[in-house]
Amino acid sequence: DQGLEKTKENFFSKVTKAVAGRSKVDDEVLDDLEDALIMSDVGVDTTLEIIKRIEKRAEKDKYVTTNDLNNLLKSEIEDMLVDAFDQTYKTFSLPADKKPYVILVVGVNGVGKTTTIGKLAYNYKRMGNNVLLGAADTFRAAAVDQLTIWSERVDVPIVKQDMGSDPASVAYDTVLSAVSRKSDVVIIDTAGRLHNKVHLMDELNKIKRVIQKVIPDAPHDVLLVLDGSTGQNALEQAKQFSSVTDVSSLAITKLDGTAKGGVVLAIAHQMMIPVKFIGVGERMEDLLIFDKHEFVDSLFK
Ligand code: GDP
Repeated sequence: DQGLEKTKENFFSKVTKAVAGRSKVDDEVLDDLEDALIMSDVGVDTTLEIIKRIEKRAEKDKYVTTNDLNNLLKSEIEDMLVDAFDQTYKTFSLPADKKPYVILVVGVNGVGKTTTIGKLAYNYKRMGNNVLLGAADTFRAAAVDQLTIWSERVDVPIVKQDMGSDPASVAYDTVLSAVSRKSDVVIIDTAGRLHNKVHLMDELNKIKRVIQKVIPDAPHDVLLVLDGSTGQNALEQAKQFSSVTDVSSLAITKLDGTAKGGVVLAIAHQMMIPVKFIGVGERMEDLLIFDKHEFVDSLFK
């Protein structure tokens, strides 16, 4: 399984209840389904889209089996997500023509950013890559310490400076070092102080500019880490970060301990940014490549 038991139970039991014993798609079923989806953290907008699609697909008041209705729901959700997901991210592989591949990791404190970086480092290393970490969240001493612990655990080098030093300077050092070490992938941690948006925007822009002095087409990925257990707040953060910088992919963490995994559907549908990874635990093995078929399947199993 995917570590999504709680989401699955929550989603499936609510949706099943809404659908169970019904033999036709009438307004009552659609209303109940709408409630069930909203309560499963799928969010209002995404829920309305799903209901609209089912209304269109199902012949109104025509008799159906519970199974048919479930399958209809499943296929509509999957179809809806098709455009948002890039299906090329099947393994922890890197594009051969971008070396070093630079990943800038953004997100607010506490969402699991450091842990996700550690897990990525583990996975890329496991695939035979030389990994380098950059500790550009210089605002919190704990952030640098935590990343250092991960670098030791996974046994990959890290570039860091004293706390309070310029994040852009750390980022610059990191990519310079990556070039001289011939690293395959560079993963740079940044501070995510969303409460000061202008400052955050300036800081991220500056980091990008200095990276580009060394590697003109970098960063190749701006990965936003979101805490799935915060439900709709995660969606809100995704919107806010997108207004500050060009987020190119998402990692959604802590889906193991929460029943709010339905938010993944909302985020994927509304942001049109691919969800690349999901976090399903605290260990380095607990990062999965997101696969929408598997995800939707697991919700209905
Ligand atoms: P940061 O402040 O964003 O860097 O957050 P951390 O990486 O330090 O993570 C905060 C807490 O969340 C830590 O206790 C992590 O072990 C935990 N955590 C991170 N990712 C996951 C996950 O996918 N599942 C679970 N259960 N815990 C996680």
